[in-house]
Amino acid sequence: MMTMTVAVVGAGLIGRAWAIVFARAGLAVRLYDVDHLQLDSVLSRINESLEDLQKAGLVEEPAAILARIDVQADLTKALTGVAYVQECGPEDVAAKQAIYTQLEAASEPDTILASSTSGIVASQFTAHLEHPERCLVAHPVNPPYLIPLVEVVPSNATSAQVIERTMALMRQVEQEPILVNKEVQGFILNRLQGALLNEALRLFRDGYVSSEDLDKTVKHGLGLRWSFMGPFETIDLNAPKGVVDYAGRYGPLYRDVDTQRSGDNPWEAQTLQELDEQRREALPNNQLAGRQAWRDRRLMALIAHKQAQPGS
Ligand code: NAD
Repeated sequence: MMTMTVAVVGAGLIGRAWAIVFARAGLAVRLYDVDHLQLDSVLSRINESLEDLQKAGLVEEPAAILARIDVQADLTKALTGVAYVQECGPEDVAAKQAIYTQLEAASEPDTILASSTSGIVASQFTAHLEHPERCLVAHPVNPPYLIPLVEVVPSNATSAQVIERTMALMRQVEQEPILVNKEVQGFILNRLQGALLNEALRLFRDGYVSSEDLDKTVKHGLGLRWSFMGPFETIDLNAPKGVVDYAGRYGPLYRDVDTQRSGDNPWEAQTLQELDEQRREALPNNQLAGRQAWRDRRLMALIAHKQAQPGS
């Protein structure tokens, strides 16, 4: 069987991580960036990530993975013969529109053009193209070589075949795609995260809880289950007869809480300043980088644990 070739356009944080995902799965990867300086250091930076993954037991042959990544400074060459493009340019509508104009001109007609955008729906940067039916969003979570979820978000114009091919490719490269049936700002993951953050900030601002205790509520409470099951399965298992039984018992409480929620802005500067004071007391600025490295190691250990559990 011929090795499939994909292109990654934009070699920043997310582009480098996608290159690892595709190459780890045995695909040939062309990695392009408009900034040639970015390309000079890209392989050594990818190699550092691969070495970390190897130390955590998550990849076996970093050199073989690296050898599948072909750095390309010419867009047309980068896109020749590729089945799929993962766009990882700046998070800006005008920039994405310009990149998509270039991608349409430089790629073959049946190449899928998928965007990593965190929150801009595809219709906003592909409606001007001749062939928007081959475009959609494939939103990863950083870094996608550790966190498998990908939100596949078609626009109204995206063809069913392009959606199906993208879902299949994501499964082939060991990601876990979900399909977002119609365009919505923030997609699913960031809408859920936003709901939690908005509520957390209000509870903190209004003096109900310290930042440390708020974080403990998730890390010693909700988050333990969330690393292997979602909120719907959680409530289905938390009443003897399942989700309807649960709703009969606790629905009125959640409904009351929902109506108490005001529409005010929890992201005001003063709230953030108070939160920052508590965070900097718990974690001084000069310890941020060390704690980030600790987080990445914990995440790798958790992923290794999950991979060792059949059916998880
Ligand atoms: P980044 O700034 O690290 O990388 C962007 C890259 O795009 C840069 O290397 C830049 O030189 C390049 N670029 C600019 N114009 C270009 C062009 N015309 N053609 C090709 N390359 C071009 O940003 P990032 O964090 O990697 O984000 C990339 C995309 O991924 C964004 O849409 C972002 O929303 C999305 N995303 C980011 C995260 C995250 O946590 N950082 C998570 C999920 C999705």
